[in-house]
Amino acid sequence: LLVGGLGHTANYAVIFAQLYTLGKCHGIHPFIVQLRDEETHKPLKGITVGEIGNKVGFNTVNNGFLGFTNYRIPLKNMLMKNAKVSESGEYKKEKNSILSYGTMTMVRVSIVRDQTVYLSKAVTIAMRYATVRRQSPIDPNLPEPKIIEHVTQQMKIFPAIAKVLVFKATAESLVEMFYEVMQELQKGDLSRLPELHALSCCLKPITTNEVTQAVEVCRLACGGHGYLNSSGFNDIFKMATAAQTYEGENTVLLLQTARFLIKAWKQGLKGEKLTPTVAYFGSFASHTGPKRYFDSSVAGILRALQATAAGKIALAFQHIEERKKTMSAEEATNFTGIELTKAAEAHCQVFFLESSIKMVDNSARSVSPALKKVLVDVLELYAVDLVMRSLGNLLQVKSFV
Ligand SMILES: Cc1cc2nc3c(=O)[nH]c(=O)nc-3n(C[C@H](O)[C@H](O)[C@H](O)COP(=O)(O)OP(=O)(O)OC[C@H]3O[C@@H](n4cnc5c(N)ncnc54)[C@H](O)[C@@H]3O)c2cc1C
Repeated sequence: LLVGGLGHTANYAVIFAQLYTLGKCHGIHPFIVQLRDEETHKPLKGITVGEIGNKVGFNTVNNGFLGFTNYRIPLKNMLMKNAKVSESGEYKKEKNSILSYGTMTMVRVSIVRDQTVYLSKAVTIAMRYATVRRQSPIDPNLPEPKIIEHVTQQMKIFPAIAKVLVFKATAESLVEMFYEVMQELQKGDLSRLPELHALSCCLKPITTNEVTQAVEVCRLACGGHGYLNSSGFNDIFKMATAAQTYEGENTVLLLQTARFLIKAWKQGLKGEKLTPTVAYFGSFASHTGPKRYFDSSVAGILRALQATAAGKIALAFQHIEERKKTMSAEEATNFTGIELTKAAEAHCQVFFLESSIKMVDNSARSVSPALKKVLVDVLELYAVDLVMRSLGNLLQVKSFV
């Protein structure tokens, strides 16, 4: 366990544990549990608790381990907002168990936002360094240029700058969607909760993976100075990479998104109505979309990415169905795991690009024409860089693209 505040500080914890009543298991539920005596601060009988030791980062947080031996808590300690157990052991839950994911979804939304802050710090350091550091004359008759004049240096830093803006725009879209869905929930409409959950489950992994990689690229872009602790990259990297694991391990989250996508694909095949972020599956599932998608405009790249995501989920679905003929559904899903995570990543890239296209379109109302032009260029750079990184995917499903 790596639970924050548990190592030395926490007297109480919210524990997620399997709930059994009347001999039946109802899955994981939250319980508030006392761990230490409020006066002496010593662990209670049956509790094993302690500090896990030095970590890559976050060393100011006393993360801890925890074990229970024959430890009993009263029924009233169960957090019963979304599921209840009566004194007689009768179990009743809300009609949509996904309600209990609400808090986790909000936390993941804020992780996406935090990551844009980490990357913006890293690109600022790298960009400033690149405009003062001079190396290697390009023209032998001229003095050494600032290193940003080297095109290869630009290709390290500029796409990272574009990512900051795109990730920020996407985080804002997700926050907007979060509040919309919360309002719908208050009216008893739960229909978009799975979509929000699925989206937060893929945006968090993609953002944390890409930001962690981009911070490292920025560090390398500062040569030997980037290796100094005083460059700041080390601290930024530690913060960024921690989020690849906490609040849901990235691969596990991508598989959750994929489960939602497979369901949506099946709905698409049946011609059922799809929720907004997967609505683009419809024309691919029914083969009614335009036949050729790729052109190098941002809109063309978006269509190609949609085709890629739809193509990858179609293949994953087909392979699960084929495997199910000789193995269980769970085994078939496990054997298709890599394809499923890649499909989830591709779907997430569609949302990134869509959100940033909207951000740039809307910016016309709030920014000068000159700044708008910069935003358009940044968006185009992000889109082209994404295509360059996705060539294998685009080729794999070229019948769609
Ligand atoms: C800095 C930090 C702070 C944290 N803070 C807290 C906190 O405050 N509270 C708290 O409760 N926890 C906290 N955690 C714990 C964190 O939530 C877990 O570490 C995380 O969920 C991963 O679980 P795990 O460590 O058991 O890894 P595992 O689940 O054992 O993962 C190990 C590997 O197995 C793979 N794997 C596991 N399950 C599957 C699957 N179903 N399918 C495919 N692959 C799988 C993973 O992809 C990964 O590669 C923190 C972690 C870190 C790093």
